[in-house]
Amino acid sequence: MSIFTKIITGEIPSYKVAENADFIAFLDINPNAKGHTLVVPKKEENKIFDLSKEAYTSLMDFSYQVAKAIEKTLPCKRVGMSVIGLEVPHVHVHLIPLNAMEDIQFMKKVTLSKDEFVDLAEEISKNF
Ligand code: AMP
Repeated sequence: MSIFTKIITGEIPSYKVAENADFIAFLDINPNAKGHTLVVPKKEENKIFDLSKEAYTSLMDFSYQVAKAIEKTLPCKRVGMSVIGLEVPHVHVHLIPLNAMEDIQFMKKVTLSKDEFVDLAEEISKNF
């Protein structure tokens, strides 16, 4: 069972920003930038291109809606999107508010307090 499945089943906590029957979006715990969000299909699958075309399209559609909420909440040049999965083998889309190229490079990280995570998740969720 992946760590994201544990989040989905409520076994471990997350800073949730959006959810429907098939997907959940929550803040990345080690964000590249403030507002870095992960969009995850509830059905555990390892690699994004092993999803059915329908599941892939639905994931992109949900990610689009989450990106709009991030854009409304946080000033940034644009919201960037990346799919990696080398650390957690459960499909997820990274949505990251970008102001500089380094924000998408997964090297520079920002530190947020628990209260900042809670407030941010609530703000994005209100704009969803
Ligand atoms: P990758 O699998 O390489 O796309 O990276 C996995 C991402 O998941 C990293 O950016 C981690 O910071 C993030 N991550 C790992 N565990 C958690 C967690 N419990 N809650 C939120 N984000 C997490």
